[in-house]
Amino acid sequence: MRNGLNHNGLNQDEAHRIREERDSRYDGHLFIAITTTGIYCKPSCPSRHAKPENVRFFDSCEEAERAGFRACLRCKPRAENGDAVLVKAVTRYIEAHRDEPVTLADLSAAAGMSPFHLQRTFKKATGVTPKAWMRNERLRKFQSSLRTAASVTDAVYEAGFAASSRAYENAQQKLGMKPGAWRKGGEGSNIAYTVAPTEFGYLLAAATERGICCVMLGDSAAEVEAEFQKDFARAERRRDEKLSLLVDQILVLITASGPSPHLPVDVRATAFQQRVWDYLRAIPRGETRSYSQVAADLDQPTATRAVARACATNPVALVVPCHRVVGANGSLTGYRWGVERKRNLLERERA
Ligand SMILES: [Zn+2]
Repeated sequence: MRNGLNHNGLNQDEAHRIREERDSRYDGHLFIAITTTGIYCKPSCPSRHAKPENVRFFDSCEEAERAGFRACLRCKPRAENGDAVLVKAVTRYIEAHRDEPVTLADLSAAAGMSPFHLQRTFKKATGVTPKAWMRNERLRKFQSSLRTAASVTDAVYEAGFAASSRAYENAQQKLGMKPGAWRKGGEGSNIAYTVAPTEFGYLLAAATERGICCVMLGDSAAEVEAEFQKDFARAERRRDEKLSLLVDQILVLITASGPSPHLPVDVRATAFQQRVWDYLRAIPRGETRSYSQVAADLDQPTATRAVARACATNPVALVVPCHRVVGANGSLTGYRWGVERKRNLLERERA
């Protein structure tokens, strides 16, 4: 511990508090040596405490050992190697800065090593880059927020995508929409959207505060944005890159192998469309149904064409998986976003 401070910025008082409380959060970051026994421990070691005057603190096992101390056999402070310590420090830093964009440069400055070395060490220990780790963490948090948050955008912001609490307040105001406010062209509603390239082409995802209102696919960003503007001509549209998280969630519906996230939807629907779309959402990934099968399952065996129409007018591609409905002989019938894309989606789901 140089100049009374170690690399975590701990002073002696804090170090003593950590020792007193056996604060395991500092395992791997702070090492406590006992001058009377010649042993050093990690903070969480359950061994009896020595008198404060017989205690010395170190930043690393190496320093403690250079000073002549041996690792405690009970808490095995050496068990955590340097890589694990780094991973812990990095993940703790990310957690503490959850509301800010954290770059690799920030992490490397905080860890005191080159971005290259940090990235390589982190990846070796965890299997993913720090960036991928942050993304996974946010997705995980987003999924759990979705279950409790009042709206999709709340969940996005709760997951740590807000630049500040002010952005959160703005989002609340700007995205606010009274129930039943869906009118032609989205008049009177505020919609946030984003466009991202995906393996299925450019995907545009848009949401009100209540849920996803539009998902479109196309060959270019300009194409999907033009379609979106046409369908929501009278809505207040606002591009918000934070919604890229929604794109990830939507893609999970197609590409993941585990359970699908339940994504709230905010769309205008007739009672019949609602029934068809609910049915479609229940078709498992990788399976298909024919239009006549859907009609029969809805106890409306003569409504095959109406089912086809409901599929064709689905405003939220992938979220309501209308691509899972095919012709009676299994042929890929029309798809608003192109038959080739429908084929790709079904192949990807079966893979
Ligand atoms: Zn110990």
